[in-house]
Amino acid sequence: MIAFGPVPSRRLGKSLGINNIASRKVCSYSCIYCQIGLTPVQTVTRTSFYDPELLFSEVEKHLQKIAPNDKPNHLTFVTNGEPTLDINLGKEIRMLKKLNIPIAVITNSSLLNDPGVRDELMEADWISVKVDSTEEDAWKRINQPAGESDLNSILKGIQEFAKAYNGKLHTETMLVEGVNDNLDLISQIALFIAALHPQTSYISIPIRPPAVKNVKAPDEEKLVKAWQIFRNCGLETEMLTGFEGTDTCATGNAYEDILNITAVHPLREDALHELLRRNTAGIQVLQSLIKQGLILEIDHNGWKFYIRRLFGSLR
Ligand code: SF4
Repeated sequence: MIAFGPVPSRRLGKSLGINNIASRKVCSYSCIYCQIGLTPVQTVTRTSFYDPELLFSEVEKHLQKIAPNDKPNHLTFVTNGEPTLDINLGKEIRMLKKLNIPIAVITNSSLLNDPGVRDELMEADWISVKVDSTEEDAWKRINQPAGESDLNSILKGIQEFAKAYNGKLHTETMLVEGVNDNLDLISQIALFIAALHPQTSYISIPIRPPAVKNVKAPDEEKLVKAWQIFRNCGLETEMLTGFEGTDTCATGNAYEDILNITAVHPLREDALHELLRRNTAGIQVLQSLIKQGLILEIDHNGWKFYIRRLFGSLR
């Protein structure tokens, strides 16, 4: 199926998915956390999967079936693999722009060292680039790249792209316990990302069954530290942890507000007390959430932080 959804997405609102890679997974990476399994066809060579006219007409037909109040906020290339491996991507983006819906592309960045790929992506309105590691060994372990790939040239390609791109740039970093969750490495990643000036950098964790057994998310304490490191680099940082939280505050329901915000990022104690005050709620709301095992209190750098309890049944 070329077009599917729309599906709700915290990052993209209602997102109509476009799978521009024909049925079997084709990717330049074989990430150990990939939710669609290891990569059977691993390549960095771009090829044609669909006639762009067919892809456009499938998306157009799909849109016609959607009720007006379900109209998507984005048409998103999110595929069975890596969307930039599609040699027709630039042409498809140009054609889809006629539909007057912003175009988003979620890429693993591995082909951004190709100036042609960078040019094609310039036409999209919203891009997320993957930066799981800036260090060779961890990159190889987590992303298991195709043999021809070269990390330095990919990182340079990401920098070139970020410099020239005028749309909304985002980054995504998946953290895996014991692979890329070392604090020095996280600092290197954060510094690299900060120089790209993205709108938001997302820290994600494996929440669905991974391609490789025993792949685990770091614990909440490590996530709080990672989030702080990103924030200290000046990055607007959110976490993608499987909870659909929002960052809005003081809606009058302190219980919901704390759950929503701590799903997106850790809440420092002073901010949490302010939130309770604005909701005219007492400390017992917080105590109840902790007692129910819904949030965790973590000490870090002399402060208490509160974070949504992520693992309950996963660990
Ligand atoms: S880049 Fe995406 S599709 Fe490719 S292996 Fe990694 S997670 Fe899976």
